[in-house]
Amino acid sequence: MPSPRHRLDALLQRINTATRAAGRSDHVSLLAVSKTQSADAIRALAGAGQQAFGENYVQEAIAKQAALHDLTLQWHLIGHLQSNKAREAAQHFDWVHSVDRTSVIDALARHRPDTRAPLNLLIQVNIDAEDSKSGCRPEAIDELAARIAQHGTLCLRGLMAIPTPEHHPQQRADSFSRMQQAFVALRSTYSSIDTLSMGMSADFEQAISYGATMVRIGTALFGPRE
Ligand SMILES: *Cc1c(COP(=O)(O)O)cnc(C)c1O
Repeated sequence: MPSPRHRLDALLQRINTATRAAGRSDHVSLLAVSKTQSADAIRALAGAGQQAFGENYVQEAIAKQAALHDLTLQWHLIGHLQSNKAREAAQHFDWVHSVDRTSVIDALARHRPDTRAPLNLLIQVNIDAEDSKSGCRPEAIDELAARIAQHGTLCLRGLMAIPTPEHHPQQRADSFSRMQQAFVALRSTYSSIDTLSMGMSADFEQAISYGATMVRIGTALFGPRE
């Protein structure tokens, strides 16, 4: 198994190559998805220069944050957010990618401490209209964005999506393309918007070709999950 530094450098190289191949000159940032990975594995990647980590479960993240409190890391919640976890999410994360309803927006706003920078939010869009998935319908984006903009303790940064993994590349391209259009439309309304979070280990190069500005990668960075 190559070292964490080697795996990180190889992945950053692939992201860079895909960004150039898409004819882009902007920067695509890497969110290291560390769900099920140990605090030690995160520490090793942090030592290689990675700062942003994504977790799916609030309690799991809080335990790792405690073990890593001596490091300056940026924590992103990317898993479905239950309302009864909103208070802890607002206190323990820098970003939440999985905002999909007004009740969660209001709860995050209420519980974000005034002493901290505004909580960065992405609206999760259920782009393939899957029954089982969280995320809002594309038609609901504007309403949720307006709601976020009402709260001084929140900062609207953009959109997030997880296209159906079983889809063929052509169907996935269609989903990514619709997300890109929604992102461009929203950005023309809100100056704080700069983040389109899409692309995972299996499809991040394609996501980058459709304008992703942040890719969320676990397996290709840490190896297979237990
Ligand atoms: C697990 C997960 C990822 C990373 O998936 P990999 O295929 O391991 O890269 C990205 N986004 C979300 C929302 C996830 O739950």
